[in-house]
Amino acid sequence: MNALIDKFSRQVRYVRISVTDRCDFRCVYCMSEDMTFLPRAQVLTLEELHQIARAFTELGVEKIRLTGGEPLVRQGIGKLVNDIGQLPGLKDFAMTTNGAGLRKHADSLYQGGMSRLNISLDSLDRDRFRRLTRTGDLDKVIDGIHAAQDAGFERIKLNAVILKGRNEDEIVDLVEFARRERVDISFIEEMPLGDVSDHSRGETFYSSDDVQAAIESRFPLMPSPESTLGPSRYFRMSDSDSRVGFISPHSHNFCSTCNRVRVTVEGRLLLCLGNEHSVDLRETLRRYPGELEPLKAQIIAAMDLKPERHHFTTDGDVQVVRFMNMTGG
Ligand code: SAM
Ligand code: SF4
Repeated sequence: MNALIDKFSRQVRYVRISVTDRCDFRCVYCMSEDMTFLPRAQVLTLEELHQIARAFTELGVEKIRLTGGEPLVRQGIGKLVNDIGQLPGLKDFAMTTNGAGLRKHADSLYQGGMSRLNISLDSLDRDRFRRLTRTGDLDKVIDGIHAAQDAGFERIKLNAVILKGRNEDEIVDLVEFARRERVDISFIEEMPLGDVSDHSRGETFYSSDDVQAAIESRFPLMPSPESTLGPSRYFRMSDSDSRVGFISPHSHNFCSTCNRVRVTVEGRLLLCLGNEHSVDLRETLRRYPGELEPLKAQIIAAMDLKPERHHFTTDGDVQVVRFMNMTGG
């Protein structure tokens, strides 16, 4: 039974939990170059993260995604995955990662019960990859994708953020790579989260419709009815198993079917990515250590705060001051 229903009759069945704000990359659309990270005391402990996951599954959530920052840089991530992976009622357990740590961690994630991985990849050119991520090593990420496949992960999905003037000329190459590797790929429109200093968001905005047109010049796309309880719109190609998805917060608003909430690494429950509405779960966790009921009651009450929709625009204005690494992308 799902106890999480908001004022607009949407059922919340999916929670994304950020396990760290730290990262070994500094992607230009996500972070500024000189980020300051949270002091340890403000970050949820592994035990607190587990409690939150447990509360949500007991309230009817079926899908959990761990994200960050980079989840694989969190100390003890293997144990956390193993603990969450055993929660009854969890049908879909996933992680979004930059892939660089997968050679080291893929086996333990898979053994711990994780079923799906999204791996971010915005360029196949080493120098450009380095410029977009500021510190990333493309070869390590590609090796990480292979490590995940070796470990047994199926239906791996690549996430690519396309920025005008930076990587839009690689759209077809990225689809070809996905086809060769037999993985899915989703293209994400850049969202105005945090002031990233590298560029003005308005300058780099590239719509999903333009991405789709570029792909269709090479591979005709057929709409696919499948959904993964998420905002992606999926398409198929006639001669490949790989699916192509579009996550388009600007051009195709998906709020009316939103079934998700997020928890930041500080324990803030965010009811909407594009609004500041939130409640402080950490305070409750620390006031009632080891008790699940107060936490569950607070989560149920928070459902009334879930706003009807976000109000992102493409004119480059920063509307939400949180950076994506804080939010849990
Ligand atoms: N570090 C992991 C990774 O990069 O996959 C997980 C966290 S990252 C914040 C999650 C996803 O958000 C990545 O696919 C990244 O490309 C995307 N992302 C980050 N900042 C974004 C922004 N401003 N707009 C749209 N997507 C963004
Ligand atoms: Fe790190 Fe992911 Fe943000 Fe890139 S998008 S800086 S990999 S958290």
